[in-house]
Amino acid sequence: MLTERLHLNDSYLEHFEAQLVALSTWQYQPSLILDRTAFYAESGGQLGDRGQLETPLGPILISDTQIDETGQVHHLVQTVAANLADAVGTKVNGLVEHEKRRDMMSQHTGQHILSAALDELFNAATVSSRLGSSSSTIDVEKAEFSQADKRKVEERVNQVIMDSRPVRIHYPSPSELAKFPLRKMPTVSEAIRLIEIEGFDTTPCGGTHCKDSGGVGPLLITGWEKYKGLTRIHFQAGTRLLNRIGEREGVLDQLASFFGVGWQEVPDHVQRQKVQIQNLSQQLGSMRSDLVNLKLAQLLPDLQPKSDTPHIIRVESPDPVAFRAMAQRMAEAGYFILLLAEMDGKLRFILEGPDPSLVAAYHRETLVPLGAKGGGKTRIEGVLPQNSGSQTLLKQALNF
Ligand SMILES: [Zn+2]
Repeated sequence: MLTERLHLNDSYLEHFEAQLVALSTWQYQPSLILDRTAFYAESGGQLGDRGQLETPLGPILISDTQIDETGQVHHLVQTVAANLADAVGTKVNGLVEHEKRRDMMSQHTGQHILSAALDELFNAATVSSRLGSSSSTIDVEKAEFSQADKRKVEERVNQVIMDSRPVRIHYPSPSELAKFPLRKMPTVSEAIRLIEIEGFDTTPCGGTHCKDSGGVGPLLITGWEKYKGLTRIHFQAGTRLLNRIGEREGVLDQLASFFGVGWQEVPDHVQRQKVQIQNLSQQLGSMRSDLVNLKLAQLLPDLQPKSDTPHIIRVESPDPVAFRAMAQRMAEAGYFILLLAEMDGKLRFILEGPDPSLVAAYHRETLVPLGAKGGGKTRIEGVLPQNSGSQTLLKQALNF
């Protein structure tokens, strides 16, 4: 006997009495079978319920609800007590987790309204839907979707929500079915269940819905993307949306306070700062270039041609970019150089020259034995430990 599904006629039912009829498994996970249940089993894009069963052996947590191919509802449990079989045949009290169920009802009823609005405004049918625990999406037959479309749809959806239109459940006979203007055709031929949002939409569905459209709470489209010739629309409704808006408001308030401007001025302020940073960065680049030119003008006239060992040069208070630029310019001018500089409490070096084999040999034979760390091919860059060897190099640098 299949479990009687109490939620089909009352989505708001959270407490119920039932009989535990069997222990079973669903996809290798232990499960409990009841004669009746208010737990919704995952199907039609809606997630399964969580909750608790009070049994004579104590409470049992239900982590998920699933339905198998025969139509049997499985209440999944994480662990099975050794004596659980003793509880089979006893009465249990079920308690469906309110927050998840209520959230699902908002997303699901919101999805009906969103799909119907897209149909009404753009003749765009919904091909599939997924109501996730954080994000919900529908795929609609509309190749292009714009910001203006989003506003238009949201306006219509929220108007229907604020109308608080009754949401009704129908089980029509085949002759009655013909009288309903259905948005999509049923996929089953028996026990067809219709969800009607008064004066707006009627569609077959087995999920849990709010009793009127107002129960959905506000709904917004949170994003969209092209998907296999369709548009995948992301949306949120109800408490979930309010939480999201609250978090985003908090971030905006933080930014406004950080910049010392009103929240409306944050985008302009950030844009101005971005331009300012670009200008400063250009100025800095040109100042670095001037600095390098100046240092080279001081150094180069005194450098004698030398090929087998590098000119050892100490650079005072450089910044890392200028340090590299100097090494590059001197190597390009044909000099074999070892630049040394103290930065952030470390003795940094760059070894560079026109002949890579000489660079590699000096690194291997002189710097590595001193404990140099670092690497590179044509340019070897790294750190020297502050020991007597590196002190000798620094002294040589004074007398290059
Ligand atoms: Zn539905």
